[in-house]
Amino acid sequence: MPAAAHDVVIIGGGVIGASIAYHLTKRGVRDVVVLERSSLGAGSTSKNAGGIRLQFSSEINIRLSQLSLPRFEGFADEFDVDIQFQQVGYLFLITEERDVKPFEASVALQQRLGVPALRVDRDGIRAIFPELVTDDVRFGTFCQKDGHADPSSILNGFVAKARAGGARFREGAEVTAIDREGGRIRGVRVGDESIPCARVVDAAGPWAAQVAALAGIELPIRPLRRHIFVTDAVDLDHPIPLTIEFASSLYMHRESAGVLLGMADPKDGAAFDETVNWDFVPTVVERALARLPLLEHAAVRTGWAGLYEDTPDRHPILGCVDGVDGFIVAAGFSGHGLMHAPAVGELIAELVTDGRTSLDISPLAHRRFAEGDHVREHNVI
Ligand SMILES: Cc1cc2nc3c(=O)[nH]c(=O)nc-3n(C[C@H](O)[C@H](O)[C@H](O)COP(=O)(O)OP(=O)(O)OC[C@H]3O[C@@H](n4cnc5c(N)ncnc54)[C@H](O)[C@@H]3O)c2cc1C
Repeated sequence: MPAAAHDVVIIGGGVIGASIAYHLTKRGVRDVVVLERSSLGAGSTSKNAGGIRLQFSSEINIRLSQLSLPRFEGFADEFDVDIQFQQVGYLFLITEERDVKPFEASVALQQRLGVPALRVDRDGIRAIFPELVTDDVRFGTFCQKDGHADPSSILNGFVAKARAGGARFREGAEVTAIDREGGRIRGVRVGDESIPCARVVDAAGPWAAQVAALAGIELPIRPLRRHIFVTDAVDLDHPIPLTIEFASSLYMHRESAGVLLGMADPKDGAAFDETVNWDFVPTVVERALARLPLLEHAAVRTGWAGLYEDTPDRHPILGCVDGVDGFIVAAGFSGHGLMHAPAVGELIAELVTDGRTSLDISPLAHRRFAEGDHVREHNVI
């Protein structure tokens, strides 16, 4: 006798897969299985900087953040987990003429949508973060509601609640094939094991295109290496915002007694490479020292690299795929998957149970690439 079909199989046990599993069980779907080839959170979820922000330049990204933010603020009540959410704000520093108009437009859009973001001049920046060098800064944008939290606590919260609701998480379970019958999904395979299901959610992060290819679907998602370095203790006796020097992509926030530094290496092309390039440290440190000279007394204590999952318009791909019934994508977050995980889990669960979503996610449909209808987002680092 063939095994009974599961309601939903989720491929990928990162924050997105776990959030979807939790929200499905919350909506009464009991037979949910998450297949993770490694261990839960082993992908980008355990590599990220924990940043959570409302300040985006596209309406759909702002809406996803607005749905997610209250969930992070109320995480302890909903999940009984302290995610150490510090709403210290995000401070963008604009130094280049080419970024002036886009950021002015972003703040105007954010304010129209109810985001309490502000344009701040140099005095305003110094009032928020006095130790920063601001001579070359044209202006900043700041939103106090933004901040950062602990990614693994967020993941653990979703996983525990999803399990309590009946979802099963299988680690060491790599999906090696996806079975289709004509235009319908029939199941997935983990090695020799066939797992029947009518619906599959591709939540495989940077590997989502490889997973989709198993079902004969092309996803324009490419892996891009991103580094993080953390310094030892610094002499800073007040909270600092998550600060982004937009032109160089350097960002920093407090991490224990030190400072976490992130920056994109323009030399990194698309590749599944998570090795740390220690030769990149001097470049990052040089930029960081120019912006925050007090780092002079701190040494880089540790570092790691993870993968962004980039799409051509740096927006996620959410929802069904034309021509393949039962295949749902939740991937391509282009560096913002942690902060959008609550909204994405909720919306994908709505799609599965109701066939529609409370927020219009059609701008993020897979078909937009075939139709050349990309979304525009300027504030990506
Ligand atoms: C350096 C860095 C900094 C970042 N900073 C931020 C930030 O500040 N804020 C923010 O919101 N986002 C940030 N991000 C992005 C964020 O980490 C991701 O968007 C998010 O973690 C995506 O979660 P996910 O669950 O989709 O993917 P992942 O966490 O990568 O999970 C996908 C899982 O799928 C599994 N998998 C792959 N193939 C298969 C298969 N065939 N079968 C079974 N399992 C499979 C993988 O093992 C993996 O565990 C950052 C990313 C990086 C790299």
